[in-house]
Amino acid sequence: MSLKLYILDDDEQYATLLSEVASNIGWDVITEHNPVSFLQNKIEKEGVLVLDLNMPEMDGIEVIRALAEKQLKLLLILVSGFDARVLHSAQQLAEAHQFKVLASLTKPMSIQEFAETLNTIKPKLLSKKTIKTTQTSNTVTMAELDLAIHHNQLLLHYQPQIDMQTGSLHGVEALVRWQHPEHGLIYPDKFINLAEQSGLIEPLTEEVIRIAVQQSQQWKKEGINPDISINVSAENITSLSLPEQLKKLTDQHAIDPEKITLEITESAVMGDLTSSLDVLNRLRMKGFALSIDDFGTGYSSLTHLYKMPFTELKIDQSFVMHILEDSEAMVIVKICIMLGQMLGMKLVAEGVETQAIWDELKILGCDIAQGYFMAKPMSAETLLQWINNNQ
Ligand code: C2E
Ligand code: CA
Ligand code: CA
Repeated sequence: MSLKLYILDDDEQYATLLSEVASNIGWDVITEHNPVSFLQNKIEKEGVLVLDLNMPEMDGIEVIRALAEKQLKLLLILVSGFDARVLHSAQQLAEAHQFKVLASLTKPMSIQEFAETLNTIKPKLLSKKTIKTTQTSNTVTMAELDLAIHHNQLLLHYQPQIDMQTGSLHGVEALVRWQHPEHGLIYPDKFINLAEQSGLIEPLTEEVIRIAVQQSQQWKKEGINPDISINVSAENITSLSLPEQLKKLTDQHAIDPEKITLEITESAVMGDLTSSLDVLNRLRMKGFALSIDDFGTGYSSLTHLYKMPFTELKIDQSFVMHILEDSEAMVIVKICIMLGQMLGMKLVAEGVETQAIWDELKILGCDIAQGYFMAKPMSAETLLQWINNNQ
């Protein structure tokens, strides 16, 4: 497969230079100096665009917008002579338009740096990993979801959370899946929103909690006793009876509430403050642990965080994944860790995908790590094997 590499830069000399470098290492290159004519020409759907952000007639940001309107999801390499923050913010914008940004390079960059960037991306392209963005979305209906909740079609997968000091299993996060009779296994990003909007999130969460508590009891019999984290939505924590319901259920199954952590996203907490505070405080008083999920992505207010009885802070994976190549992501992770430590909260990093990220987080003083580097979410049976293999 030969992929096109488009180079769009108003500086002709510079563009020619980049074009020569790329051709030499086997790319099929098309060079353009004028964004307007670039956009008028035929652009292939699958290709890479080296985009200069500062051009006189139309800047790179406008080009990104125009490509988005034409639904041309090229893979981007952003180039700019501005400072790194501009580049970073342009990258965020491109990603908001659903573009994949392969690299952001500051001008003047060395030829070597450019060639290296191209060389690292080519294998990825050939494996088509980064290109596959459109998945046939099997839309599900409210009636189907309702049925699923009440007819045992929901199941939980469990992802290990590892204590960074000891390397041992600290707990698991329960993640819901839907075993659909026709569509197969459906992931939560396809139905949690629907549940939240259609009033089905209450029965869904009840079902998830029921499965999790039962599983916890089962694990006890099998001789393992991991803590278990359960995701709850905004609507769930305004339901004033949640603490009592949950306590009743754990009592019935002889589960210690301390073993259960409820993960609540930041934006959920910021909704109805009075009810949330009521529910969170009573959950905490009954012994349940509380985690603030996706921390850093929502509309956090430090005062709210201070007022709420959270025991754990979960740093969002969008930062954790990038700490090694994105200095701003690193700053955010460091601040989260410092904040958590000062407020006496347990720190969990999610999205730990490599050994290098693990090592760095350990140095930074993070307590618990969760991510593909250690283990993906898995069924309860697989988890048991995983634990036996990893002791
Ligand atoms: P979340 O709470 O942030 O959960 C973490 C998600 O990241 C999971 O996706 C997990 O499989 C994935 N993940 C874990 N480690 C890595 C990693 O190293 N790299 C990458 N790229 N991803 C990783 P999943 O299972 O698809 O869940 C998506 C979201 O759906 C969850 O995000 C959570 O917000 C929601 N969700 C899942 N189960 C429930 C539930 O029972 N109730 C509610 N209300 N929401 C749920
Ligand atoms: Ca979570
Ligand atoms: Ca998250």
